[in-house]
Amino acid sequence: MTARILGGREIAESIKAEVRREVENLEKSGGFRPGLTVVRVGEDPASNVYVTNKVKTSAELGIVSEHTHLPAETSQEELLGVVRSLNERDDIDGILVQLPLPGHIDGDEVLNAIDPAKDVDGFHPVNVGRLHSGQPCLVPCTPAGVIEILKRSNIEIAGKHAVVVGRSNIVGKPMAALLLNENATVTICHSRTKDLPSITTQADILIAAIGKPGFIRGNHIREGAAVIDVGINNLEDRELVEAFFPEDEVEKRLAAIDKRGYTLIGDVNPKEAIEKAGYFTPVPGGVGLLTVAMLMKNTVEAAKMRRGIAA
Ligand code: NAP
Repeated sequence: MTARILGGREIAESIKAEVRREVENLEKSGGFRPGLTVVRVGEDPASNVYVTNKVKTSAELGIVSEHTHLPAETSQEELLGVVRSLNERDDIDGILVQLPLPGHIDGDEVLNAIDPAKDVDGFHPVNVGRLHSGQPCLVPCTPAGVIEILKRSNIEIAGKHAVVVGRSNIVGKPMAALLLNENATVTICHSRTKDLPSITTQADILIAAIGKPGFIRGNHIREGAAVIDVGINNLEDRELVEAFFPEDEVEKRLAAIDKRGYTLIGDVNPKEAIEKAGYFTPVPGGVGLLTVAMLMKNTVEAAKMRRGIAA
C-alpha cells in the first residue's frame, strides 16, 4: 500500500480565504475588524519566527494585529499587568502569549490571567473545561487543525477508533477531546503505556504528538490507517536520512542538512508510514501549516462571540 499524502497547504489556504471573507463581512456589517495581540517575552529565535508569521498572516487577512515584545527580564507582575490591560481593551479580541516563557515566569498563572473570551490559544482552564463538556469554546489551534485535515480530506471520524500518542495540554489532551466530540472511540497513549504497538495497530486514525523524531514506525501502524503526524523535530544526523525518508526524498533531505544543519522530521517514520498507511500527513507541509490558519479562525470566532454575533 502507498499512502495518500494529505498536504496541509491547500486546506490552510481555504481556511485563510474563509477567514478573509468573514473579516470583510464583519467590517461591512459591524464596522470593525478583529484585533489580535501576540505577546512575546525574551529572545527565543524560534518564537520570533512564529510570532512574525502570525502577525504577517493576520495582516494578509485584514485582522488588526500587534506584537508586544517584552525583555527577557520582565517580571511576573509586569507580564500579568500587560495581560490585564489587554483584557480591558475593547479593540483586542485575541490575546496569545507565545510559549515558551522564560524560566522565572509561572506560565500557568499568565495563561490563567487571560480573559477566556480572548484566549485564542484555547489553553485557559475555562476553555479546556468547555471543550471537555462539549460546549462552544476557543479550541487549541494545532489539534483543531488536525480535525480540519480529517474532515476536509473526507476521512470519517464518527465510530472510528482514534489513538492519540501524547497527552500534553497543548496537543494530546485537546486532540483526544475533539475526536471524542466528533464521536470517535478514543484511546490516549503516553510514555508509560505498555506495548504501544498492540494499541496503535488498532487505530483507524493514529495521531502522533510525541516530540521524538520518526518514533512511530511501520509496526505501530495498521494497514490502511490514517496517520496524522503532529511532530516537528530537527534531524541533524546524515546517517539516519536513509532509514527515515523514502528513496526519492533522500537527496533533498541530505542537501537540507548540508545547507542549514538539519532537516525537519515529524514523530512518524515517513518511509515506513508511506508503505503501510492509507493516508499520511507530511512534515513539513502537513499539520504545521494549519496552526496559524486556525489561530486566525479563532480570532474571528472570539470577535464574534464577544459581540454576540452568531457563528
Ligand atoms: P510534549 O509536551 O513533550 O508531550 C509529549 C508527549 O509524548 C507526552 O505526553 C509524553 O508522555 C509522550 N511520549 C513521550 N515519549 C513517549 C513514548 N516513548 N511512548 C509514548 N508516548 C511518549 O510535546 P507536545 O508539546 O505535545 O508536542 C508534541 C510534538 O508536536 C512535538 O514534536 C512538537 O514539536 C509538535 N508540535 C507541533 C505543532 C504544530 O504546529 N504542528 C504544535 C505543537 C507541537 P508523558 O506524558 O508520559 O511524558
